[in-house]
Amino acid sequence: MTARMPVIFFGHGNPMNALLRNAYTEGWRRIGNALPKPKAVLAISAHWYRPGTAVTAMPRPRTIHDFGGFPRELFEFQYPAPGSPELAQRVRELLQPVEVELDNDWGLDHGTWSVLSHVFPDVDVPIVQLSMDETQPASFHYDIAKQLAPLRDEGVLIIGSGNLVHNLQAYAWDRHPVEPFDWALRFEQQAREFLLQRNHQPLIAYETLSRDAMLAVPTPEHYLPLLYVVSLQQPDEHVSFPIEGVEGGSISMLTVSIP
Ligand code: ZN
Repeated sequence: MTARMPVIFFGHGNPMNALLRNAYTEGWRRIGNALPKPKAVLAISAHWYRPGTAVTAMPRPRTIHDFGGFPRELFEFQYPAPGSPELAQRVRELLQPVEVELDNDWGLDHGTWSVLSHVFPDVDVPIVQLSMDETQPASFHYDIAKQLAPLRDEGVLIIGSGNLVHNLQAYAWDRHPVEPFDWALRFEQQAREFLLQRNHQPLIAYETLSRDAMLAVPTPEHYLPLLYVVSLQQPDEHVSFPIEGVEGGSISMLTVSIP
């Protein structure tokens, strides 16, 4: 009998974290060290947001450099973790009747590898990505995630990778540390309270929460992976926030772990 695996939402932030050592990457490494080694990872990344639900089904997913304007060494970064066609098939079964495409084109995007290269530096855990269907409302993502619950007892670590607050318009790209914006802190605080109260309904209806939500979540893709994670919380489990911080004034680096 395999112990139930945790479910974790990571705030990934700047892709350069893949190459850096800082408080966030150290936190990711600590999490990796404390975890029982998973059979595989199912990753829901902000950066695979497209029409329809798909899973990566190739045995050797490529490392995708899905960004521009970063140093060459980041484009040369490789995270050659194996895939798992078996897990892809299993996810497809579990999500029925939602149509899930077995994808052989995508791979691992930086939402996944910028974090997992620290969590699993030995590159020895197979990884499958699940896309988020951009044509669906937030409630759809929360609802289908529940169907993935059996994976936790099958040794699969489910992760969401995004950012609870993600506003690149307001982001300070220069290197000077800046104070977080008030609206970013307020939205994060409100979300943390709902998470601690296990009050998921307002998190699903985040768009109607407050005016802060429009600034904190101007587009859904970095927020929605959180809904996959909280949806899998069981009645006996409490959330924790093992990593916290706000980068560039407008990116929350909060990690949400269950349990
Ligand atoms: Zn991102």
